[in-house]
Formats: sequence, structure tokens, C-alpha cells
Amino acid sequence: AQLEEARRALDAPLFADLSGDIGVSFEFFPPKTEKMDTQLWDAVQTLAPLGPRFVSVTYGAGGSTRERTHATVARIVRETSLAAAAHLTCVEATREEIDAIADEYWAAGVRHIVALRGDPPVAGQGFAPHPGGYASAADLVAGLKRLHPFEISVAAYPEAHPEARSLDDDIDNLKRKIDAGGTRAISQFFFSPDCFFRFRDKAAARGVTAEIVPGILPVSNVAQTRRFAAQCGATIPGWMDRLFEGLDDLPAARQLVAATIAAELCRRLYAGGVRDFHFYTLNRAELAYAICHMLGVRGNAQVTEKAA
Ligand code: FAD
Repeated sequence: AQLEEARRALDAPLFADLSGDIGVSFEFFPPKTEKMDTQLWDAVQTLAPLGPRFVSVTYGAGGSTRERTHATVARIVRETSLAAAAHLTCVEATREEIDAIADEYWAAGVRHIVALRGDPPVAGQGFAPHPGGYASAADLVAGLKRLHPFEISVAAYPEAHPEARSLDDDIDNLKRKIDAGGTRAISQFFFSPDCFFRFRDKAAARGVTAEIVPGILPVSNVAQTRRFAAQCGATIPGWMDRLFEGLDDLPAARQLVAATIAAELCRRLYAGGVRDFHFYTLNRAELAYAICHMLGVRGNAQVTEKAA
């Protein structure tokens, strides 16, 4: 496997040779304050001219951002020509409540849902479905499909979801989500291209035919990412710590290192046949913009604002 990865890295085209056949999408979270709102909107407007396939807005644990997610997605639909996707989870809500949220999205013109189970409200306690709620993401996908012909994206885990009995079991669960009506999978972040390729090959061998889009997290703060990674079963390689050593007080240098690592990951994924990338933007445009630019994804300034 290591030899194979080394070969792919050598074969990877230089950035200058990427042929403009890449599609991207961007993920945002709903803002809590006015300042964060301005930051989000700046990021949306900066990234919009890159012509993403869609942009998505996350849903807070336990439905804590229900109104804010809705308001953010509805504003993107109203004020831009971007295709907007709303994340939705099964946590702490009955089927009727979730169906009502989905109906509101449909009425607001939203046609794409990222359907997730969500995490238990108290970290570390196992997930217990709400009585009368959807029990899993696959269950939610089926429910949404009964309501409206949504386009649906689901989550995939190249290193296996932390609660899964095995990677094979988790891939079987991914297949259930696709079979229930999922259009594509978006992966949890990861840092080894080879890990993603092995997952993609295994998923194909177990009958997952939908595209699996890698989720790219440009990391400029390893300590913060490590805390997050511990909860979601992603591995932070040792080399990443070494690359950021001594840069604590040099935020601009950290950004440059972050862009380089993420662009290199994308370049190697491209060499392995990947053509679509989903960026976890954390509501900041610069890193995603720079990486897209290096990948040959260039702007068309026309798409940002809807005609008055
Ligand atoms: P599921 O697909 O239901 O799987 C959960 C676990 O149960 C897995 O281990 C699976 O293997 C197992 N499982 C399910 N069904 C079965 C079965 N029948 N038999 C055996 N095992 C089974 N969280 C949020 O709160 N808000 C968000 O906006 C959000 N966005 C995300 C976006 C992406 C791209 C990703 C990758 C994750 C996101 N998450 C979000 C996190 C997600 O909610 C958690 O990872 C959650 O723990 C699992 O959600 P899921 O949809 O993968 O669940």
C-alpha cells in the first residue's frame, strides 16, 4: 500500500497541469452573532464566484441551531444563485417535527438535504433514538424521500465511524443510506490519501455505487483539530504536528502551511481519480479559495448576486 501511495504521489500532476475538470462544494455553519454573520456572508460572497456545485449549512447538536440553519440556508437561496443544502439530524426530535422542518425547506426552495443521525446531546453517552423519532441516518433518508424528491447527501467515514463495529459494517451502513435514496456521500475529514482510496475501493466492492466526495479540512490549528478529531474518529498524523512546530505566534505562516498541506492532499486525490472536493470552510474563505485556485478552480464573477 505504501508503494502504491508513493507511485500515485509521483504520478500526481503538477498544479499547473490540472485540467479544469474539478467540482467543489463548501460547508458553513450558522452564525451566532452579528459579527459572525458578517464573517459568514463575506465568506459566501468570496467563494460564490468559484461556482460551487452546492454550499451546505450545518445543523447544531440536538437541533440547537434549527432556526439559524434555516435562516442561513433561506438567505443563500434568496440572495444568491447558489444551490444550498441544509444539514438535518435525527437527534431529540420526533419524525413529525423533522418532517415539518423538511417541509419548510421544500417550501423555501431548498432541494438538497445533508441527512445525518447526529451525535448524542451529552458527549460520550451512546446514541438513543428519540421515541417516535428517526433511528438512524438511513431511516431519515427514507423518511425525507417519502416527503419530497430531495437530493440527499449522507456522511461517510474513511477511518470508520467511532461507534461502528468494523469498517465493513460501517460501509454496509453507508450502502443502506444510499439504497434508501442518498445521492452521494461526503466524507469525514482525513489526511491520508491512501486511506481514502482504500475506503473508496472497499465501498465499491461492497456495492456502493454513489460518488464519495472527500471532505477537506484545511488545518491551521492542530491542537483544536486534534480535539475535534478525537470525537469523530479521524487520525492526525505525527508529521502534521512537526509541520506546525514553532508557529504558534505566526498565524500567517500557519495559513500558508495549512494551504500547502490541503492542496497537496487534493492533488494526490486528483491523481487517484477524484474530481469533486467538499471543503469544511469554518466560515472563512481564504484557505478554501487559495486551495481551489491552485486546483485550477477559477471564478466567474457573475454568479454571486441574483439579478435585482
Ligand atoms: P448513521 O449513518 O446513522 O451511523 C451512525 C453509526 O451507527 C455508525 O457507526 C453506523 O455504522 C451505525 N449504524 C447505523 N445503522 C446501523 C445498523 N442498522 N446496524 C449496525 N450499525 C448501524 N453532525 C451534526 O450534528 N450536524 C451536522 O450538520 C453534521 N454534519 C456532518 C457532515 C458530514 C459530511 C459528516 C461526515 C458528519 C456530520 N455530522 C454532523 C456528524 C454526524 O452527525 C455524526 O458523525 C454522527 O455520529 C453519525 O451520523 P451519521 O449520519 O453518519 O449516522
